[in-house]
Amino acid sequence: MTATGTTSRSLAYLAGVPAERVKGIGPRSAKKLGDNGIHSVADLLLHVPRRYLDRSQLFDLASVPLGEEVTVGGTVLAVELRRLSKNRKRTSARISDGTNLLTVTWFNPYVKVAKGADVVLSGKVERFRGRLQMSNPDIDTLDPDSLLIGRVVPIHPAVGGLSPTKIRSAIANALPRARPIEDPLPRGMVERLGLMERDAAIGMVHFPDEASDASRARERLVFDELFRLEVALALQKHRQIEGSVGIAHDGDGTLAAAFLDALPYSLTGAQRRAIEELDADMTQAHPMHRLLQGEVGSGKTVVAAAALLTAVQGGHQGAVMAPTEVLAVQHYLGLRDLLEEAGLDPPRHDPSAPEGMVSLFGGETADGPVVRLALLTSSSAEVNFVAAGAARRADVIRWIADGMVDLVVGTHSLIQDAIEFAGLGLAVVDEQHRFGVHQRVQLKEKADGYAPDVLIMTATPIPRTLSMTLYGDLDVSVLDEMPPGRLPCRTRHVRPADIAEVYDLIRHEAGAGRQAFVVCPLVEDSDKLEAASATAEHERLSSILAPLRVGLMHGQLRPSEKEDVMRRFRRGELDVLVATTVIEVGIDIPNATVMVIEDADRFGLSQLHQLRGRVGRGSDQATCVLVADPSTDVGEQRIAAMVATTDGFRLAEEDLRIRGQGTVFGARQAGLKDLKLADILRDAETLAVARREAFALVASDPDLRGSAPVAEEVRAMLGADVEWLFKS
Ligand code: ADP
Ligand code: MG
Repeated sequence: MTATGTTSRSLAYLAGVPAERVKGIGPRSAKKLGDNGIHSVADLLLHVPRRYLDRSQLFDLASVPLGEEVTVGGTVLAVELRRLSKNRKRTSARISDGTNLLTVTWFNPYVKVAKGADVVLSGKVERFRGRLQMSNPDIDTLDPDSLLIGRVVPIHPAVGGLSPTKIRSAIANALPRARPIEDPLPRGMVERLGLMERDAAIGMVHFPDEASDASRARERLVFDELFRLEVALALQKHRQIEGSVGIAHDGDGTLAAAFLDALPYSLTGAQRRAIEELDADMTQAHPMHRLLQGEVGSGKTVVAAAALLTAVQGGHQGAVMAPTEVLAVQHYLGLRDLLEEAGLDPPRHDPSAPEGMVSLFGGETADGPVVRLALLTSSSAEVNFVAAGAARRADVIRWIADGMVDLVVGTHSLIQDAIEFAGLGLAVVDEQHRFGVHQRVQLKEKADGYAPDVLIMTATPIPRTLSMTLYGDLDVSVLDEMPPGRLPCRTRHVRPADIAEVYDLIRHEAGAGRQAFVVCPLVEDSDKLEAASATAEHERLSSILAPLRVGLMHGQLRPSEKEDVMRRFRRGELDVLVATTVIEVGIDIPNATVMVIEDADRFGLSQLHQLRGRVGRGSDQATCVLVADPSTDVGEQRIAAMVATTDGFRLAEEDLRIRGQGTVFGARQAGLKDLKLADILRDAETLAVARREAFALVASDPDLRGSAPVAEEVRAMLGADVEWLFKS
């Protein structure tokens, strides 16, 4: 990794130069920077200003427009700090810019404001009793040397106690030594996309002549950041496909067709489209990696079932992996019933009669094809082809290895444990968005070196921009249409004081033969305490709601107890189910019409949306009741958002806004946690362009032989997480 050309240096090269080498950064500052992820000169140069002060845009206090976002400047004449109560503080300052006076107040602030300092304030100016005032504005202190910088003053984010000024001067020292900085992109591409050159962009983003230069410079750097990420995703996808031999499933689709024909309803257009997309993928020889995304209740299960039957008809096995045992059982029961309705269920045999089993190997009976289904979780095993239903776990494991079982439903332990398949053709991963590269590699091992097709189903509504980054390596099918006849769930916010109304609603619905969920308050980080509180609530409600039959469900129950209670609820032997969030995903009880969520403001938006998705799955009007006295702004906003819309995609965007992108990413993909400049909502358009360009580049030059600077940069900037992409 040397500087190429005569003098220009690549970002990859600068990523190898420690920040400490910059004049003005000693070991102590270097440590503080390092603790905040700024290790190299490249990191430092990509630490861009959070905003710019354009002196020409400062208003005089004498003529400032009132009630609009503005920036004003002045000198601090006096500061007063006052403690209002135990944990409320107020700082106020008197400011003059020579044309008028301004009083500024901050509540509970962390602001440093000193008498005599020159400051710049951004916010709204109001007039109160003839005096100008601002409350809680953003404040920047101008140091004397910023007067030398020019009209536009960059304000860098402070880092680990290093002031914006200190950081600015370190960057000012680093820049002339680092420049000129090489552009890794071909000139033609830079021009075609109308981007600023890399070198100019890095210079301008820190010290622009005009505020508009800064925003164009930033645009280029945002593009670069997203492009690096998308190149990594494109490479990952290419490696998976290229490094794998997949299965070209063959079959005329009659099995899936027989199944779909027997459904008691007709498919939505979206379901039909998704099934076609899956079919097209599955008949190809390269492995499928597809995401099936759809709102809760949009009917993903039948789409997956059709694909599973396509695999079975081609002579392979299918596996469905659910995130919880409860959900695995539900899928098993659901599939079993659907197979029965379609007449695809095998005859039931007595397992103690060995000759009974022999006839099973054919996969057909005199009457036509059959599909042998198994349930396998850590605690239970069941198959649809023995008379007793329940089977020994060891037997089921053996039948899977022998190929006697066509479809297996289980939890994720299906891939983690030592379960062997005779010929796994399709793995469906339900309601799970943390199914990463690692698990896919494990799947491949399950299938003797060829890669089974993978379908990931998620109801977590993901904004399009986010799915493009989170699932950049997957193809996506979307169910954007709900089955007809559904009434949108009504959502009500009820204060705890009015809880009696909620009990009346539950009694009323139970009287009409319908059912209700009551979700207990969240207890952070303790399943035990959560279970205890659910148990107490169960007791309380059992007596309040008597004679209604109230069941209890929480994570500490034994798996068989969980199954038992779900079975009773499903059969209508219980009217009310008091539960923790274990029922959050997937549970499908169309007869349930009430979802009560206690202390709802403490749940995350996506969790609330998932919980609400448990009702309104049948044709009766459903109600979701959010019981809360929100004590925080965030809680208030969440409740308001839930009452305002049932659209999961809008809620997800709202969630992203409320929580910030860092929390949404988690550890799903390499490099995501490192997005520093880009904001995937604001920069959605740039993301789309970066993605298109990155995938086109990798398609035409899979080893990036002709784009060595790009490869070098992705590797240097994304670090160890992407190292495997470059191994040949
Ligand atoms: P999800 O997408 O949340 O996994 P499910 O697959 O559990 O949704 O389906 C939700 C409910 O809708 C189920 O009870 C299912 O039987 C029903 N359903 C699915 N597709 C249709 C359809 N096209 N018309 C009517 N009901 C449907
Ligand atoms: Mg589902």
